[in-house]
Amino acid sequence: MARADAVVVGGGVIGLTAAICLREAGVEAGIVAARLPHATTSSVAAAIWYPYKAYPEDSVLSWGGRTFKVFEELSDTPESGVLMREGVEIWRERVPDPWWAGAVHHVRRCGDDELPPGYIDGHAFAAPVVEMPVYLTYLMDRFAAAGGNVQQRTLSSLDEVDARVVVNCVGLGARDLVDDTSMAPIRGQVVRVRNPGLKRFMLDEENPEGVTYIIPRSDDCILGGTAEEGEWDLEPDPETAAGIVRRCTRLEPRLAGVEVLEHRVGLRPGRAEIRLEREDGQGGVPRIHNYGHGGSGITLSWGCAEETLRIVQEVRSA
Ligand SMILES: Cc1cc2nc3c(=O)[nH]c(=O)nc-3n(C[C@H](O)[C@H](O)[C@H](O)COP(=O)(O)OP(=O)(O)OC[C@H]3O[C@@H](n4cnc5c(N)ncnc54)[C@H](O)[C@@H]3O)c2cc1C
Repeated sequence: MARADAVVVGGGVIGLTAAICLREAGVEAGIVAARLPHATTSSVAAAIWYPYKAYPEDSVLSWGGRTFKVFEELSDTPESGVLMREGVEIWRERVPDPWWAGAVHHVRRCGDDELPPGYIDGHAFAAPVVEMPVYLTYLMDRFAAAGGNVQQRTLSSLDEVDARVVVNCVGLGARDLVDDTSMAPIRGQVVRVRNPGLKRFMLDEENPEGVTYIIPRSDDCILGGTAEEGEWDLEPDPETAAGIVRRCTRLEPRLAGVEVLEHRVGLRPGRAEIRLEREDGQGGVPRIHNYGHGGSGITLSWGCAEETLRIVQEVRSA
């Protein structure tokens, strides 16, 4: 069998998007993944465009800004599952303009009528909301349409891959696969409920009882959440779920008595800084690492995929 131009390891949003960018630019890339897209952390994400627990800020701003633009274009394609929604982030104290404001079109201060009782400041803006079950299917179809194949397989070393370039998008799996002990889980629990007619998202990051957010999708809403650093437990905790529903209902009374559809937990791939760089592996085979996106993998996916493509092209032209 001919040696592949590139193999992307990982079938979450980061690997799939990188693989699409590669194939659509003419690089023969396949995917090898332990878990298929709908069983990854990416499938649990809320998912709104919003920089959260991902660093460094300057890279996040540039990758995030690029991803915002791609999502905006995709929102014209209904089967992508990307919606442009307006909403607010709210604060119990006066805050400066958000550091990421340059990546979105327009951020304005909330009027008093937009703030729930007890909140004194807020930012209103429009952002992409990505319905992950729909979006991951869209990405898989797009990858297949570009001639790509996904092979389900768990690797114990990147050296097992036979390709001219290996792209490492294994998220939290990098802890074992490349011995990156700086990777740590940031546990997130969410409750999926029927949408009682909400359109606006609401983010309350600094809620003293825990990070709180309401992300309305088309038929359901994702209510969050938690951000528990170093916590590996994938079982939803009923008490935590009750707290999430209580906090969200306090912010949005129309959620009172809403039907609960599902409880989910995901482990965000936490790292002090996203790792997106080239390294030479065994026999000089170039590896491109693209992992550690914390709470912003969807927010950064296209910017990081294009950067990956740029590095692959550099490697191929050397
Ligand atoms: C509750 C929650 C809410 C979130 N909300 C948002 C949000 O609103 N916006 C946002 O931008 N982000 C959000 N995130 C974060 C986002 O989900 C992650 O940053 C993103 O999913 C990371 O994607 P990934 O592709 O790197 O990892 P993953 O989705 O975990 O995919 C990793 C892939 O690598 C494979 N893999 C791992 N190890 C191996 C191995 N040894 N061999 C072969 N394959 C391997 C896995 O099987 C999988 O296919 C949220 C996360 C959670 C948990």
